[in-house]
Amino acid sequence: MDGCGVCLLCADTCPLDMSLCAACRACLPRLLHRCPQCGIGLNTPLPKGSICGACLRRPPAFDRCLALGAYTSPLPELIARFKFQGVLSSGRALARLLLAELASQWDTRLPDALIPVPLHPSRLRARGFNQSLELARELARPLGIPLDMSLCHRKRSTPPQKGLSARERAVNLREAFVLDGPPCHWRHVALVDDVVTTMATVNEIASLLKKAGIERVEVVCLARVGIDGIRTGT
Ligand SMILES: [Zn+2]
Ligand SMILES: [Zn+2]
Repeated sequence: MDGCGVCLLCADTCPLDMSLCAACRACLPRLLHRCPQCGIGLNTPLPKGSICGACLRRPPAFDRCLALGAYTSPLPELIARFKFQGVLSSGRALARLLLAELASQWDTRLPDALIPVPLHPSRLRARGFNQSLELARELARPLGIPLDMSLCHRKRSTPPQKGLSARERAVNLREAFVLDGPPCHWRHVALVDDVVTTMATVNEIASLLKKAGIERVEVVCLARVGIDGIRTGT
């Protein structure tokens, strides 16, 4: 611990490098049971080696989704402070917690690169920063993985996804992203996003990455929305 800070949630003292006290960290909504592919929270564990019904019916383009937790309090509040109010200490605290989760999952096979989900330049100008890029930066440094910001771009602005159904989201994102540059030499990458809801965005990018020859695409995010396939939040 390098000094004392103030917990973002309860204002108690906490390790400066954490921004959350031990009690608040213990209350984060962990996904006890989840689908090993799409990462959705499940009420009961799946038999070993199996995936959820939604993944069986419609396999996602990515191989695995890892999340810090479910999209229930206090994660939405912490993410909103980071994303909409620009409280970067909240983003850093969340990134550190996610890092601990990833370290246990990636103990043998680290991705070759982290790719943040790009924001359209017009939205980037309005917000001032890309929350996925800030998050990816915080993860890349301690993991020693390159951050690839040049491969994937958003080529057209799309209306916000909030309030759209899964089908509407997929249509909304069609041809929204493009891969640039020379043929990609990564074999295994992880896409970084803040919240994964219907998977439309990460699925769209993952399918482009797979078409470009990348063998393994993982998704890492702060929160995974939904329990048992039922949407519970935005
Ligand atoms: Zn606290
Ligand atoms: Zn699944």
